[in-house]
Amino acid sequence: MKKDVNAENIEFLSSGLIAPIKKWGAKWSLWAVHLVTSCCGVELAHAYASGYDAERWGSLNFGMMRQTNLIIVEGTITKKMARALRITWEQMPDPKFVILIGACGIEGGLFWNSYHITRPWKIIPIDYFVPGCPPTPEGLISAIRALQKKIESGEAKTTAKFRETDLAKLLGTEVGKERKPPKPPLKIAEKPEIKIEPKEVEWEFGKKLIEELKNKMPFAEIFAIDINRIYIKTESKFYEKVAELLESEGFDHVKSLNVIDLPHENKFVVECSVSSYSVEELMPVIVTFSVEIPRDKPRIPSLIRFWPSIDYQEREMHDFFGVWFEGNPWMGNKFLLAPEVETPLRKDFKLEEPSYVLER
Ligand code: SF4
Repeated sequence: MKKDVNAENIEFLSSGLIAPIKKWGAKWSLWAVHLVTSCCGVELAHAYASGYDAERWGSLNFGMMRQTNLIIVEGTITKKMARALRITWEQMPDPKFVILIGACGIEGGLFWNSYHITRPWKIIPIDYFVPGCPPTPEGLISAIRALQKKIESGEAKTTAKFRETDLAKLLGTEVGKERKPPKPPLKIAEKPEIKIEPKEVEWEFGKKLIEELKNKMPFAEIFAIDINRIYIKTESKFYEKVAELLESEGFDHVKSLNVIDLPHENKFVVECSVSSYSVEELMPVIVTFSVEIPRDKPRIPSLIRFWPSIDYQEREMHDFFGVWFEGNPWMGNKFLLAPEVETPLRKDFKLEEPSYVLER
């Protein structure tokens, strides 16, 4: 039979001669481990800051899980974070309690059908749920007060009373019949347009720079797309050459590396943006260069040898789209921990559709 940790914790507090002291101590010393996972953390900060001052009812955020007895799960828990949550909870001494705040933690919230989301109540036992997106600090305070009452009386009490409704009657469905959730309102354009065109801008330095780059890269299309923005389109065989020339020009770091998925044309666009920290006049300039690679054989050289900081971004693009950056030693590894998740940002990646069953 599954161990009921919540019941055991309460039982421990209510047992023995010194039970009243144990209960009193736990009630007024609910130390929450500092485990901010997402934006709900702002509401927690609000509840604990000087305005509401959670210390007044004995609750204090603390940095070390081994000296704490409460976890406040703040909204989203991703598959990657789930492990950290479980380890944190395991390391806390008994008796310990959990409050979960935010719609994301209850049923996924705005990420409800996302590839990376978990339901925290499947990972650790939760004492109280606080709904809302974001939940209010008052809601969190109510949950802390409810937990204190539970510690004192030994009984779990919900913080809200819900009207009882006969769901089957309301929905006109048989109890036990499987129901599909509504389809998410997804609209995917058959051929999304990617328009990157030259723009006439008053930018003297840019004109000179573009001329200079054109002389060095006769194999590429080079134009300004705004003041301080230059775009270079070329073939994949010149990808490394462009990087080499830009680096020698003084562009010493990578701003971003993106992959754009065009499934109907069987290609990916790999787009890299670079700038400079060392050459003063290049500092405001961002140069983006892009190449197309076949979607069914997405390989392209790594640019680590020019810009070591691109490493992490190549790993991410490898994970999300399956693009293989030749020469990057990470290739073949997974950045996302869940083994079943393959290239989740490819447009043809299918999410597992949840189904809901009305309980008997
Ligand atoms: S419930 Fe809302 S506020 Fe909380 S983590 Fe999710 S999105 Fe952020």
